[in-house]
Amino acid sequence: MTDSSPVILIAHDVLERITADAASFAGRKERGGILIGLRRGPHIEIRDATLPMRWDFSTFISFRRSPRGHQSVALRRWRESSHTLDWVGEWHSHPEKHPRPSSIDLRSWRAAVEGRGAPMVFVIVGYAAKWVSLAIPGSLRPIEYRQSETSSAGIAFVDMSQAAKS
Ligand SMILES: [Zn+2]
Repeated sequence: MTDSSPVILIAHDVLERITADAASFAGRKERGGILIGLRRGPHIEIRDATLPMRWDFSTFISFRRSPRGHQSVALRRWRESSHTLDWVGEWHSHPEKHPRPSSIDLRSWRAAVEGRGAPMVFVIVGYAAKWVSLAIPGSLRPIEYRQSETSSAGIAFVDMSQAAKS
């Protein structure tokens, strides 16, 4: 793995929280929210996540996040952290064991990344596994990431193709 290959680090409590939330609504509703963290060079460290809020709309097969609520949480965390913690990604759940992004997911992620002009992390929580990816402005598809190392800081995810090479 080269030094420039971005690593995604997700704090344990964030993974536990979104997994538990998705599981408690499994088979009834999709869930989702935003991922809040910091950028260290090309790397992204996720420290917090929002859960669905009352303005969001969800069914068994869809989750539509309203910017209301999530945006103000992101802004508050940004201010409180002296502008280090920011909105760095999004997560949502799927009613499938091994989730894959839908064409709607890919379209909405691309719009989010182009709007932000910086790489963002997108996570889908399934029944048995998570789909973790990094989307980069200007590229059509996000890069699929795979779980690599676990430490006290969290679980590191790396580019699958890079991991296979090393
Ligand atoms: Zn989806």
